[in-house]
This record gives sequence, structure tokens and C-alpha cells, in this order.
Amino acid sequence: MKVIGLLGGMSWESTALYYRWINEEVKKRLGALHSARIAMVSVDFHEIETLQRAGQWDRAGELLAKAAQQVEAAGADFLLICTNTMHKVAPQIEKSISIPLLHLADATAEHVKQNKIKTVGLLGTNFTMEQEFYKGRLIERHGLNVIIPSEKYRERVHRIIFEELCLGKVKEESRREYLNIMGQMQEQGAEGIIEGCTEIVMLVQQKHTNIPLFDTTEIHAKQAVTLALN
Ligand code: GLU
Repeated sequence: MKVIGLLGGMSWESTALYYRWINEEVKKRLGALHSARIAMVSVDFHEIETLQRAGQWDRAGELLAKAAQQVEAAGADFLLICTNTMHKVAPQIEKSISIPLLHLADATAEHVKQNKIKTVGLLGTNFTMEQEFYKGRLIERHGLNVIIPSEKYRERVHRIIFEELCLGKVKEESRREYLNIMGQMQEQGAEGIIEGCTEIVMLVQQKHTNIPLFDTTEIHAKQAVTLALN
């Protein structure tokens, strides 16, 4: 079994989900007392979020590149950045290490395409929903049609992530808002919704809606296990 490298802490709420998913999946596939071989470095999200808000992405990239090097030094065979948003600095991180990166947008897009879905709604932070590194990658590299909420709703989705989910708060009214926004995207033609932020699954799970959901945390974790066991 290969060693799965995790760059976590963004937020720790979702990194905990990664840790659980990866181990559950290894147990399911190998049975008995098997568990995953993991090397993880978990950063202080306050620092990263401050740099995001200040637009200091290069500095954030430097911090994460250093953390990624520590993951590699700890014996990881490949790396997962456990957040969609910080894939904005994936090229900078990738350059600083010699192990491969399992890119979250690519893992997700492959999964969506396997499900024969062409048009998806995308929810995540404003950075993820609006920018080239994520939304653009789904469109240009993977040929998906991507629908995002209107500006007003993007703002709500973004705020709920940082002011509630990353702090472990799961509120019924926020779930209703998310479901409402998902419904709007479905009306605009979305055949499924990418939960493009690793905390969204804490709020909305498949049992809450009939629209097919693509939880990036679960997809990423499972692909990591497949890679580790190959
Ligand atoms: N975990 C989130 C994501 O998947 C947001 C936190 C962050 O800004 O990294 O995008």
C-alpha cells in the first residue's frame, strides 16, 4: 500500500472527514484491521484565510509549498491538497515537490463524466466558483458545462462556508438556502451539483435532495485509496 499524503487543516473540519473516508474505504476494500498509510501536515487555517482575504496568494502558496515538502519528507508517495480553493496555488505547490499531486478538480470532473453528466452546478467559495483555476479547469480541460449561482447567492454560499461550516456549525436555515440555490441551478439545466468545497457535505447530503450530488471530499478520498492500492 502506498502512503497517502494529506495537506490538511483547511479547514480541519473537512480534513477530519478525509481521514475518516480514507480509512473507511481501505477497511472496506482490504477488510480486517487494515487502515490507510497516511502522512499528513495540517496548517493553521487562520493564517491561510487571512492571506486569501488580503489577496496574498503567492505568500499562501509559499506556506503550503513548505508544508507539502514536509508531507513528502514524511514518506508520502503522492499528495492531496484537502481543499478546493487552495488549488489556486496548486502549480506553485506542485513545483516544490517531486511526488505527484492528485488534483481535486480533475478527480471530480472524471467522476462527473463517468456518471454521464455534461452540465453541472458548482458550489464552493467565491474563488472556486468564479475563477479559472477551478471553474475554468472543469470547462476547458474536461469539457463540462458549468452553472454557478448569481452574485447575490454566491456571496451567501461563500459566507456560510467561512462563517459556519469551517467552524463546525451546521444550521437548518443554511441547508434550506443551499437546497434552494441547488434547485435554481437545476432549473437552469444542471444535471448534478458539484459540492466544490470540502465542508459542504457537512450541510447537504444526498438524502436531502434528488439532484445527484458530487461531494469533492468523498471523491478525492476514494481516488486516493484507489491510487494507494494500485
Ligand atoms: N475547504 C474549502 C474548499 O474546499 C474552503 C476553505 C479554503 O478556503 O481552503 O474550498
